[in-house]
Amino acid sequence: MKVLVLGAGQLARMMALASKPLNIDVRAYDVGSGLVVDPLSTSTTFGDLADGIAYADAITAEFEHINHDVLDVCEASGKLYPSSQAIKVGGDRRLEKALLEQSGVANANHKIVNNKTDFDDAISTLTLPLILKSALAGYDGKGQWRMTDIAQAEDIWSDIQSFIEGDVSGQQAIIAEQMVPFDREVSMVGVRSKNGETFAYPLTENHHSKGVLSVSLAVNEHQGLQAQASEAFDQIANALDYVGVLAIEFFQVGSSLLVNEIAPRVHNSGHWTQQGADTCQFENHVRAVCQKPLGSTTLVRPTAMINVLGVDTVPENILSIPSVSMHWYGKTQRPGRKMGHINVSGQDKTELLHRLALLADILPTKDFPDVADYINNLS
Ligand code: AMP
Repeated sequence: MKVLVLGAGQLARMMALASKPLNIDVRAYDVGSGLVVDPLSTSTTFGDLADGIAYADAITAEFEHINHDVLDVCEASGKLYPSSQAIKVGGDRRLEKALLEQSGVANANHKIVNNKTDFDDAISTLTLPLILKSALAGYDGKGQWRMTDIAQAEDIWSDIQSFIEGDVSGQQAIIAEQMVPFDREVSMVGVRSKNGETFAYPLTENHHSKGVLSVSLAVNEHQGLQAQASEAFDQIANALDYVGVLAIEFFQVGSSLLVNEIAPRVHNSGHWTQQGADTCQFENHVRAVCQKPLGSTTLVRPTAMINVLGVDTVPENILSIPSVSMHWYGKTQRPGRKMGHINVSGQDKTELLHRLALLADILPTKDFPDVADYINNLS
């Protein structure tokens, strides 16, 4: 079979790598150049979008901020999974919040801000501190403001006003959200087939640094939380009649989960599945969109993932630690850019934590600023 992925980044690359053994060929549509490329060697091209659509048996996406005209033409071919509606929900926090409300899934108190009146209303109805997030094209902490004191209101509004006015689409807005005093951030990656079967991976604990994912840890604890997250996954995935892998990020407050956001695609916090699960998220996504039987999402051994951000080398001796697996994305180095990730596993949590501590000793602090602190505080 043949799959076209909208987007030609590392997620398309890892889908291609996972698909080869299944004899599924993956090509990627580079939204920048408008060309269809080989996800592993992006200089090899295969024509334009129309050629890619004609070639593919199934079309999917590796990110949610895709031009709606592109989504519409793909949907018209009858090959797009998940649907354009599901992809659009992931790219617009207004649609995302509406979906959560309609599906009865707990999330942070919020208001939509289109103008100064909405902004003043949000400040008076929500309880400070607030986090204000762009509705469109906001990810990894970009397009966000934090208000802890009413005295900041004027400066923040002036910033937000220029942000909204500067948006060429004219569609931009802000979601004002109450800050959640969370104990930790966790996420669930799961997969749904076209006939509505769902499988969820174990919840993953996520550590962020400056709004960007730094470390994910999957150990299969907290069965109560796992059940809550699986229920939210089913509610959201069923409401969207979703096909493929979907990720949900949560805040854990005590023994409850609140949804932060959803991503209609394979997700960075699911990269550990390459070494830690029966079937990795990339293979399961491709299986779902090609309408093949889904693979087991069982955790086979506790596994962690460390993101490599902004650097194109890591000390080679990390490879001498058992179970360490290096995944480079073949990208040109830029400050802060996701360049690769390291997976490490153990037969049990104790062994995993030991191996993580060995890694933390080797990885340079300048390149992995708070990774050692996070790892050394795990128990
Ligand atoms: P987001 O772009 O929504 O994923 O936000 C980036 C990061 O900001 C999250 O990973 C959280 O650490 C933090 N954050 C976002 N929303 C909230 C919230 N309502 N309360 C507390 N922290 C938040």
